Amino acid sequence: DLNLTVDYASELNPNQLLAATTVDGKVLVIAGAGSGKTKTLTYRTSYLIENGVPPSQILLLTFTRKAANEIKNRAQTLLASSASDSHSLNSSLPNSKVLNDITSGTFHSFCNRLLRQYSGLLGINPRFTILDTGDAEDAIDLVNKEKKYPTQTNIQAFPRKKTLQNIISTSRNRRIHIRDLIEANYPDIAVHIPIIEQLAVDFHEYKRANHLYDFDDIISQVVRHLKTNDTFRQLLQQTYRYIMVDEYQDTNIPQKQLIDLICQPDSVSLMVVGDDNQSIYAFRGANYENILLFGETYPAAKLIKLEQNYRSTPAILDYINALSEQITLGYQKQLYSKIKIAGQKPVFCRLSDERKEAKYIADTVIELKPDYDYNDFAVLCRTSFQSNYIQLEFMERNIPFIVVGGIKFIERRHIKDVLAFVKILYNPNDTISWHRILTLFKGVGAVTATKLTQAINADNNSFEPLLAAPFAKKSEQLKPLYAVLTKASQAESVEQIIDDILDFYIPILKFIEDNWRERSEDFRVLKNLAQEYNSLDNFLENLALDPPNDSIAAMGKTESGSNDDNDKVTISTIHSAKGLEWPVVFVNSLVDGMTPHHRSLSDFEELEEERKLFYVACSRAKTRLYLTAPDYFASYSGYFDKPSRFIAELSADKVSVETVKKYTFESDEPAWW
Ligand code: ATP
Ligand code: MG
Repeated sequence: DLNLTVDYASELNPNQLLAATTVDGKVLVIAGAGSGKTKTLTYRTSYLIENGVPPSQILLLTFTRKAANEIKNRAQTLLASSASDSHSLNSSLPNSKVLNDITSGTFHSFCNRLLRQYSGLLGINPRFTILDTGDAEDAIDLVNKEKKYPTQTNIQAFPRKKTLQNIISTSRNRRIHIRDLIEANYPDIAVHIPIIEQLAVDFHEYKRANHLYDFDDIISQVVRHLKTNDTFRQLLQQTYRYIMVDEYQDTNIPQKQLIDLICQPDSVSLMVVGDDNQSIYAFRGANYENILLFGETYPAAKLIKLEQNYRSTPAILDYINALSEQITLGYQKQLYSKIKIAGQKPVFCRLSDERKEAKYIADTVIELKPDYDYNDFAVLCRTSFQSNYIQLEFMERNIPFIVVGGIKFIERRHIKDVLAFVKILYNPNDTISWHRILTLFKGVGAVTATKLTQAINADNNSFEPLLAAPFAKKSEQLKPLYAVLTKASQAESVEQIIDDILDFYIPILKFIEDNWRERSEDFRVLKNLAQEYNSLDNFLENLALDPPNDSIAAMGKTESGSNDDNDKVTISTIHSAKGLEWPVVFVNSLVDGMTPHHRSLSDFEELEEERKLFYVACSRAKTRLYLTAPDYFASYSGYFDKPSRFIAELSADKVSVETVKKYTFESDEPAWW
């Protein structure tokens, strides 16, 4: 008897219990949506701690930082409340801070921290800059221009930077050679293969020379060091003895390699949990086969399946089981529920256009509101722009909401501009940020920017070349730039740095953007964020790897008319809703051509991923699920007259069809209609 205080057997079903308490060796938990995979990770965490595992030996990898914190906080609460329940004087129980010593977060934030923490051992500069996808595209463009490859053919134009970035990233994440990738997926540009291969090499060297890491580098570089540096690998193997991974179906090959390299020794405990039906990140190189391969990598691994669903009512579960049967590849899973009352079937409703769809959703929220809080509702959209009408409607009707996913605050031009100054102070080698800043000025083009950046880097990264005669002549603003960089580099706080930069930047923004006032609102958000940090390191890391949601979220708050700041309807992309649940869920735009998207119709794997996306969306619902399909999309100026095949291919009795009068007479309609 281990003298445990948490009553695991009464909180978990037998398979969950087995998963939470099988500590030795490797364990794969494969289970459908809502079967308690994440809950099991929470209990495993508290179980490890109760059994005396030092929190510093635990590594918990999740899809967002928020998800990791939630697991830790719940485990903490479990331990704390059962300790007080049992009146035990067990002094080995953790105090409230102990779980902070667990290493947790996303793959990217974990690897980023490793690169900085072990920079000495790895022989790298810890002050590197993280390039987001847009920055990486710019960097590729710069390399392309600087190298002056012979890209002209009269057969086929050289691809755009976005396509190039995508090819290079996919090649790495899926470990497919550029030639094979292009021949298979982009046959039109095959004539450019040799140049693109060279560009990939040059791009890589460029990043290394300037201490720039894109998202792929952060993970792939750690993997490379783990393969080649025995000391580093052994160090990590000794440090992280208990590893847990949530949402394993969305890991890519480098992420799998990372885990495998650390978990090589039999003595390292590993549990991964996932649902192959929910793999929705193939476009970013995720490889759901990682789940199917687990048994090959670890022949002694235990496979545990969870089959009881605790999230959804039987009527909804019936629907998601039917959806899951349509998914061709993967493990077979049939979920059952012990809930006795069937509950309401999913509701399917066709509407004439997106505006009516938005009205219907708002009407339903208001109709149900007496029985629910606002934060019991979620509207899940395939892409963020499909929520535009819904946001407008909610604002008009005073329904408070928060927007999750889609264009991020830090992807906005003016925020990127300001951050470029900050990044230069942190890493003066950051050529991408130098370019961004210098080309803001009249008289400075790409060529001058490159020369000036080279001069600065050659001068040991001092800012003096900004004042040098040949450059100073190009633009009057270089002297003030020198002044502000010098001033900001001596600032005492992150907030002060931002203030100094804004004083300089806002007058520039006035020249380049008509809506500079509106954009300046975002700077308040940035300054608020800056106040939370006392080092540039953490500030830049969190902005790059765990960026805050769009400031539209703040708009929802000011429009709300509700006193409770947290009581809001969630409007989210399906991708960002992974792992979450709400009592009432709306899924919109369910017409063939939108869901599934018309571009995916001809490709089996893409269509399959669209189907999984729909499965993820529907399986977020606990008690009510609404599926809506407008006929007309103003943004496409087009009619989509078939409901989604994902709905049509299930037997009709799985949903109840609600009819809202389809075409109402609008007073502004001309009589001859
Ligand atoms: P997803 O695939 O969507 O990530 P999941 O398998 O991780 O789902 P959880 O989020 O852990 O599932 O659990 C779904 C819901 O079921 C949660 O509300 C959780 O608290 C509840 N639940 C899970 N297991 C049990 C249990 N044994 N008893 C009661 N409730 C449970
Ligand atoms: Mg989960």
